Amino acid sequence: QSNAQASNSNCNIKVAIRVRPLIESELNKGHRTTRLKLNDKDNVIRLFSPPVNGYFNSSNNKHEEKQYQFDKVFGQASYQKQIFDQLQVNYLVKKVIEGYNSTIFVYGQTGSGKTYTMEGYEYANLDEFSSSSRSTNHLTPIIADNENVGVAIRTIREFYKQRGKLKDHLRDRFRFYVSFFQIYNEKIYDLLNFDKARGSGAGKRYIQNQADLKVRQNQKQEFQVENLYLFECNDDKEAVTLFNQGIKNKIVSSHSMNHASSRSHCIFSIQVDQVSYETTDDDYSDGQPKVLTSSKMFLVDLAGSERMSIQDINDKQSQKETIGINKSLMILRKCMGALETNSNDNNSTQKHVPYRECKLTSILRQSLGGNAYCLMIACISPSDENFDENMQTLNYAMKTN
Ligand code: ADP
Ligand code: MG
Repeated sequence: QSNAQASNSNCNIKVAIRVRPLIESELNKGHRTTRLKLNDKDNVIRLFSPPVNGYFNSSNNKHEEKQYQFDKVFGQASYQKQIFDQLQVNYLVKKVIEGYNSTIFVYGQTGSGKTYTMEGYEYANLDEFSSSSRSTNHLTPIIADNENVGVAIRTIREFYKQRGKLKDHLRDRFRFYVSFFQIYNEKIYDLLNFDKARGSGAGKRYIQNQADLKVRQNQKQEFQVENLYLFECNDDKEAVTLFNQGIKNKIVSSHSMNHASSRSHCIFSIQVDQVSYETTDDDYSDGQPKVLTSSKMFLVDLAGSERMSIQDINDKQSQKETIGINKSLMILRKCMGALETNSNDNNSTQKHVPYRECKLTSILRQSLGGNAYCLMIACISPSDENFDENMQTLNYAMKTN
């Protein structure tokens, strides 16, 4: 446990790429994948420049434009379980239970597969659901317990699985809490605000909620979202139910906010508290056992990384939103770049990590740097139409540049 508290800043950032398959609407429009090749043995991905005047100008038929290497690349045939297993998310879960913090991001332009990778829902059902009803009252669980389940739910289950394997006296020391919120336009909204939704969810109400929550620094200099609902969940079913409820709230809220689901950062967190039952009077200040360590895993579905579109340029509100999104994604990139540099380069002066420049990085601070374990999955649309955005994504995802 003591390792987690150490202050030396080594940095554990892994970056993976996932290229999704062409989807039906793209196939119907005749889209193809000819400008992108990947090699999942070397974890290399290559982008090819377009033919000049319709002709390729080199003898090998294509001329290479750029080659990238990552910790892992996943091709169009990759499946959900493989992502979870090969990225060793169970190891990250283990670390969080040991007291370290961790963050898993999905990054990419809208439509590239971020939400599929993180959530893995059947989108047809979701569309139906979102157009048929603006209230969450009569919704049945929207996720099938199948192989489409994404990283988030696999991760939730892994936490309980690993806790279940601990020896009795140890197992009883671990308490898991979940929260779920989105950052839209630099404002924070609780996705588990059951005052606005219905009744009480699974788990216990822990803290009272308010709309547009503030970020405050606590005594330990950590930034925290104030008044965010935090639910203690005793088993994975409770936690998954809350996750599903948050997804529903996200979809419902995206009707009242301009396409908020692709323009907001959605952040689910699992907090692990290890408590002590050893009874000295000091430990039982308010009848609660003393918390020995508290650590967190953040699962983040980032806002779409696309550049400003023509519509955006013509619409003041969209314009403002896109600028805000690009800014927070750039700050995130700067933070990760600085952390990477600082960890590689022990002798030189440490680079400033600009956490405070936006809400996203302020909140994630403790789970990005220090001893935290970070995983970024950058998502790529396979269509040749997306060449430029894909190049942007790959450039963003490169750790050093
Ligand atoms: P984003 O969240 O980045 O906007 P989505 O996750 O919504 O993108 O994906 C866009 C579309 O592509 C959805 O219809 C989704 O179901 C589909 N899709 C994404 N990734 C995959 C995949 N790996 N396999 C099959 N379909 C996918
Ligand atoms: Mg999405």
